[in-house]
Amino acid sequence: MDICKTNSEIRGFVNKQKKSGKLVALVPTMGALHKGHLSLVDEARKQAQTVVMSIFLNALQFNSRDDFLRYPRDLEKDLSLAAGAGVDAVFCPAEYEIYGTSSSMSCRISAGSNSKGLCGEKRPGHFDGVVNVVGILFNIVEPDLAVFGEKDFQQVKVIEELVRDLHFNVKIVSSALIRDSDGLALSSRNELLTADERYQALYISKSLFKARDMVEAGERRVDILINQTLENLDKSGGLSVEYVELRDSKTLAPVVGQLTSGVQMLIAAYVGKVRLIDNIFLGI
Ligand code: AMP
Repeated sequence: MDICKTNSEIRGFVNKQKKSGKLVALVPTMGALHKGHLSLVDEARKQAQTVVMSIFLNALQFNSRDDFLRYPRDLEKDLSLAAGAGVDAVFCPAEYEIYGTSSSMSCRISAGSNSKGLCGEKRPGHFDGVVNVVGILFNIVEPDLAVFGEKDFQQVKVIEELVRDLHFNVKIVSSALIRDSDGLALSSRNELLTADERYQALYISKSLFKARDMVEAGERRVDILINQTLENLDKSGGLSVEYVELRDSKTLAPVVGQLTSGVQMLIAAYVGKVRLIDNIFLGI
């Protein structure tokens, strides 16, 4: 596996791959890799002959300095997991490769309408940080396709909008959310949970599964589904819920009244100081 730390190194690597006729996929990550990230590599491999993973902890998308400072970091472990998953090259740049020196970078883009509400409302500036780093990574790496996880459901929609509206020449592939065996959505932030907090966090996925069961049993009323889910989350005794929402799975439009087709239920909640998100498709 190649390890590229500079823009020119990764550009050289990708150019060589493209010259030999290979399709190049990019899997952007912030490191602290787990099986969720590695599943994106598998998805990338299905559609491309060369898989590049970027590992870059993007300060710009953290709306809380504390969250940024506490975010887990272990590049050596990440490199060995990436190599084990069959990644062809890791791009792990220093911050100045991406943003230049703070005085040199002044041009920024803003996330589109899919960034409104949900995490966009609770984390001001977060999705602007995401579209800037992803746009820059696309321009440096120039992948044919890029894979994003449905764990960050709203993020996928924001990226699709970025690519459509700014005409990036890259295909966006979304990949299924991966859970631990007990149901907890895998997340780099899970490393920060104590055993008690992890137990409480399990109520997030449990509540989503219960909502799915309710819909399977015929429930269609949005208010009942939301209120019951809030009650189920409350049983954890330790979660501080930011939102529970039902959104159209394709357009992210809020769903009101009754379900008439499949929808996405999305939850964000704090367990102690750790903010977790999860979502599930409620099919009819
Ligand atoms: P992050 O390192 O948290 O920025 O995540 C990098 C990529 O991995 C994003 O596209 C995430 O949606 C994806 N990802 C993170 N956790 C999971 C998971 N549990 N299942 C699937 N994809 C995930």
